[in-house]
Amino acid sequence: MTQPPGQPKKKVLVIEDEPDIVRGLKDALEFEDYDVFAAFEGKDGVRLARERSPDLVILDLMLPDVNGYQVCVEIRGFNSVVPIIILTARGQESDKIRGLEAGADDYVTKPFSVGELLARIRAIFRRMSRTPAGGETLRIGEATIDVKKQTVTIGRKRQPLTFYEVELLKLLYERAEQPVSRDEILDKIWGVEAYPTNRTVDNFIVKLRRKLEDDTKKPTHILTVYGYGYKLVP
Ligand code: CA
Repeated sequence: MTQPPGQPKKKVLVIEDEPDIVRGLKDALEFEDYDVFAAFEGKDGVRLARERSPDLVILDLMLPDVNGYQVCVEIRGFNSVVPIIILTARGQESDKIRGLEAGADDYVTKPFSVGELLARIRAIFRRMSRTPAGGETLRIGEATIDVKKQTVTIGRKRQPLTFYEVELLKLLYERAEQPVSRDEILDKIWGVEAYPTNRTVDNFIVKLRRKLEDDTKKPTHILTVYGYGYKLVP
């Protein structure tokens, strides 16, 4: 699958210190017509993220200088919207949670198949291209969500939302007042090609509640439907 002609190539930044992985990713991504650049150290990765404004970042957690979480937080400091996919070691659930907390959008477990990673990247770009060019806003309680700018504003306080946070809110909003199952959320937001767990959904809900609810212990907008999923009450 190649990108539509006449549009600038999508830029992907790979931050990873293992040369074989970088080479493999570069080959596969360039074959699909992405413009790929790589950093072998975290600091260099942050610099490239700042200077080259990539459309997507693939970030390894184990780097020789600074760890991937720190890199993630630093990139989020100046770019709140770029999708970040982290690469984690097998079975390190706590790594994934920590990565998502640091502002990553998705993760892939090593050893990973390049095919799976490419499928996730395609899914992200597909959904981004569906976001309307004119501003779309959602109103949830006191909060106004700007879908295009990926921000939530309550009173004078504006906070950034990550790509998946916006996607999750959009899905719940379309189905407002109805319970939406975790399985459906996983399927529609992360896609059948990806394999995140139900805890991924729960983790994103926690982050959204922090940004939207007055009292995260007693949410009034993003409600838990026990044993099933979530329901949005705008
Ligand atoms: Ca590494």
